Amino acid sequence: MKCAAHPDRSALGYCSRCGKALCKDCLVRLSAGNFCEACANDPQGRMSRPKRRFPWWTIALIVMGVAAAASILRSVIH
Ligand SMILES: [Zn+2]
Ligand SMILES: [Zn+2]
Repeated sequence: MKCAAHPDRSALGYCSRCGKALCKDCLVRLSAGNFCEACANDPQGRMSRPKRRFPWWTIALIVMGVAAAASILRSVIH
């Protein structure tokens, strides 16, 4: 196998993120694995976990649910 950027050089490994073949000059070793320079410099590339935020309506539903539960609880007690 040959490096994706240098066809005359043999690749030592693959980028863990994009799967590109990399020679020793292109390979960037990070604690998370081997990366190409582009992926190593991409801050999102280092964090392999995609961040998922709750949509606003989920929070609204939770707030409404808590409020409903509190009012039910209050009516049961009194
Ligand atoms: Zn890459
Ligand atoms: Zn290379």
